Amino acid sequence: MPRRGHYPAPVIDIPAPLRLRLDGDALVHNWRTLDRMSGTAACGAAVKANGYGLGAIEVARRLADAGCRDFFVSNWQEAAELAPLGLTVSVLHGVREEDMAAAVVGFARPVLNTPTQVARWKAAGGGPCDVMVDTGMNRLGVSADDIAAGLLDGLEIETLMSHLACADEDVPMNGVQRDRFAAMAGRTSAKRMSLANSAGIALQGYAFDLTRPGLALYGGVPRGEFSDTIRQVVWPEAQILQVRSVTAGATVGYNATWTAPRRTQVAIINLGYADGYGRSFSGRGVARTGDIDLPVLGRVSMDLLVIDVDSIPGLREGDWIGLDYALVVAADQSGRSQYELLTGLGARFDRHWA
Ligand SMILES: *Cc1c(COP(=O)(O)O)cnc(C)c1O
Repeated sequence: MPRRGHYPAPVIDIPAPLRLRLDGDALVHNWRTLDRMSGTAACGAAVKANGYGLGAIEVARRLADAGCRDFFVSNWQEAAELAPLGLTVSVLHGVREEDMAAAVVGFARPVLNTPTQVARWKAAGGGPCDVMVDTGMNRLGVSADDIAAGLLDGLEIETLMSHLACADEDVPMNGVQRDRFAAMAGRTSAKRMSLANSAGIALQGYAFDLTRPGLALYGGVPRGEFSDTIRQVVWPEAQILQVRSVTAGATVGYNATWTAPRRTQVAIINLGYADGYGRSFSGRGVARTGDIDLPVLGRVSMDLLVIDVDSIPGLREGDWIGLDYALVVAADQSGRSQYELLTGLGARFDRHWA
């Protein structure tokens, strides 16, 4: 056995000390729920940002099997990753000059957002595309005035879409955006119209022909209407690296922010903020074994965190511990959005679908 020198990358599969348990039934259940809530509209799926951190290919494959026909990513790298699945994919950020060589191949279609993108697409000979129109969010999209002036004439538009700024709130702006969007009906060559994200699906009269949920597919609950129907999909778990007994008055972790009030059994867990479990969970997060809560003690480190396991004396090195990652609760504990909690989940997790 050589001790020095150059080694090839090992071919053996090294199981990671942290994993995401991903509930494929819950994912499909959530899509079916959103599909039903979408009424006569088709229900698509936003799988950008690696399927909100779960893994875009695995998510898209499962939803396609369940009947989902429209997928949304942000850029062409993401679309290329999905190309082998042969799905209908729309690229929300449209086409830059750098994207054109890939875009004209036809494995996805652009959502054109600006007059420059429209001109670029027309100059390249066009082909089927989608178009985003701004109805008040002032993020992406061409304007109603651009459309009235004929900007989109000659385009072969599959779906005209717009995006809601405040669908998770009950505010007048929702109705304003919906009415502006509805006024576009028949003004373009678009075969379908699409407005609602996850939260928008809970609003009445916002579904048009196609909905585009992301967050709620993955267990997020952007509005109370979903709290009884949407199921948790993502369950982070990590192994115990060390168990130790901390004496009364001793401290734990960086900056010694937690002091043991009495002798306390703690476990060091193989997971940290580099994996997406942010420092804002310090002293606030909770792990769980069965229905026993195991509070996070002190600071979350980059690759480690410490939990109180006093209530479970039998825990050993190598045992697996689940983090409480119910998204509404975890968002409240950490002060981060449900979107950030999902999309921040890192590359070190093994992703296990069940
Ligand atoms: C991300 C995104 C969605 C999905 O939004 P959720 O709030 O995650 O349901 C829909 N439409 C557009 C344009 C998006 O960028």
